This record gives sequence, structure tokens and C-alpha cells, in this order.
Amino acid sequence: MIAIRVGELAEILGVHRNTVRNWIKSGALAASSVAGKKYLIAEEDFRQFCALQKIPESVVSRLISREPHASGGKEKSMPQSASVGEARMVGERRSILRADPQWVDVCLTCGSCASACPISGVDGLDPRKIIRMVALGRTSEVVDSAWPWKCTLCGKCEEACPMNLELVKLFRRVRSLRERDKVPGPLHKGVLMALRRGNNLGIPKADFVELLEEVGEELAEESCPGFATPVDVEGANLLLTVNSKEPFGEPDDMKFWWKIFYAAGESWTIPSENWEGVNWGLFTGDDDAMRIMVGRIVDNMLRLDCKKLVLPE
Ligand code: SF4
Ligand code: SF4
Repeated sequence: MIAIRVGELAEILGVHRNTVRNWIKSGALAASSVAGKKYLIAEEDFRQFCALQKIPESVVSRLISREPHASGGKEKSMPQSASVGEARMVGERRSILRADPQWVDVCLTCGSCASACPISGVDGLDPRKIIRMVALGRTSEVVDSAWPWKCTLCGKCEEACPMNLELVKLFRRVRSLRERDKVPGPLHKGVLMALRRGNNLGIPKADFVELLEEVGEELAEESCPGFATPVDVEGANLLLTVNSKEPFGEPDDMKFWWKIFYAAGESWTIPSENWEGVNWGLFTGDDDAMRIMVGRIVDNMLRLDCKKLVLPE
């Protein structure tokens, strides 16, 4: 059994740590989380995974044969039996969390999340207090409070948590419990608008395309001779999504990306429909809406046969 951190594994395999997280989340790499932000991976599973990924044997052997204190001697490994036992306990609780945030009772109240959170102290609350309130069954108080809506979902608290608790998932779950007509600000209205018209501000397709052409002509005159905004270009390398506040209120801001693509000679395009790059379904905890919006972007990728997606937000 290999006990390793995501960052350590990423470094050895020469990939970004998000790639490792995605492998684990998708089940491609069978790993169970344990306290201390480590993962346990069976050697056999790891070998099979590396074979599929065509990872050289020398790298695999290096990882399997590495010393327990390979990270510079800063970490103290637990006896194997205790580590596995703890993994089972936390794993079971974490699976309950996925359905319902009652798993929060494994929180140590250490405050690491509060120290890492950029909005700690706003309205006198911090992530640790929210977690205690949920653990104490004060769920409706949390759901009605403004604080979870001030959270940026940045995930710094989750990174800092020694118990590996999925705090962002918890905050999204809290948001999802708010009645939709009580979601603050324009967020839920934006979700409804995006479902109806393909963007959060309801900009009609004809107006959007006309604006893209107009801004493109300006850019050609200003600094990019021959530029024309590529709309619905089939086979482009990049599909670019747009934050609707730009065409609505700050159209010149769209030129920043376009200039970079022009200078790089990139092949790219903007879809004329369902081009919204800001998924308020994600932010508001509305999973059904989120899935529809993501699905539309996937449809655009397939329809236009683009290779890569750019989400500037
Ligand atoms: S995800 Fe929210 S609670 Fe966590 S650190 Fe970021 S702002 Fe704070
Ligand atoms: S960092 Fe984790 S264990 Fe510590 S108080 Fe926050 S949620 Fe609880």
C-alpha cells in the first residue's frame, strides 16, 4: 500500500496536482483518502493505472520503493494498521457527506480553515463556525444566513483542512437548500435567464453577433489589421466562452483575449448561442441548472468540432 499526498504524486508523475485529483475523483486511480491529506493506493492498482497511462516503469518503481520520509523528513508516517483504520473511518463519514452534510462531526475545530479563508470575520462568522452550527443541527440558521453566500468557493479552507473535509461541497449544499426565490441578488434570476436564453443577462443572439462584428471591426482599425471576429467557425482549435457582463456593459474588455489570439495566430471561435462562460447554477448550488449549462457548452464543442475550451471566468 502506498500512502502519498496529491502534490507529491503529481511531482513524481510530472503532472499538475489537479490532474491527479481528477484521476482520483473520476475513479481512474483507485485511492482512498486518509487524515493528513494523504491517499492510500494499493500497489497493484497503482501499477495497473501507470500501465494504462504509459508511465515509465522507472517512475513507478521510484514511487513504490521510495522511503516513507521521502518528502524531506517533515512527515511522520503512522503505523500502517492505524493509518488504514483511520482511512476506513474517515472514508465512511465522507461518503455520508456526499449525500448530507452531517459528516461534519469529524471536524477537529482546529481553525485551520478559518485562518486560510479570505473572508473570515465578515459578519462575525468563519467557516469553522458554520461547520459547528451544521454539526449542532442549526441547519436552518445556516441556510438562512447571508454568510455562505459571501463565500467565494475558492477552496482555500478545504486545502488547509487536516481532516480533508469537503468544505466547498458543504457550502454549495447549504446554498442548494435556500429557497430559490430567496437566493440573494440577481443570481437565481440569472440562472433562469440563462436556461431560457443561453446567457445570464438574456442578450438576444442577433444583438450579440452584431456586437461581436462591430467590436471586431474596431479592433482591426485600432491594432489588428485584417481581424474579423470568428463566430461559429467549425474546426477551430479553441472555443471561447464569454462573461455576459462584457458584451452587456464592458465590450472593450473582450478585446484583451482577442488581441492575444491574434498575436499568437491562434485558431479560435465564439459560439453565437449558449456562449455564457459564468455558470451561476454552480455558484447557487442548483445542480440541475449547472448540468444543463455545462451540457450546452459540450454541445457547442461537438457542433463546432473544437479541440479545447477556454473559460476565462
Ligand atoms: S471556499 Fe469559502 S469558506 Fe472556504 S476559504 Fe474560500 S471563501 Fe472561505
Ligand atoms: S480545518 Fe477542518 S478540522 Fe479544522 S476546523 Fe476547519 S473543518 Fe474543522
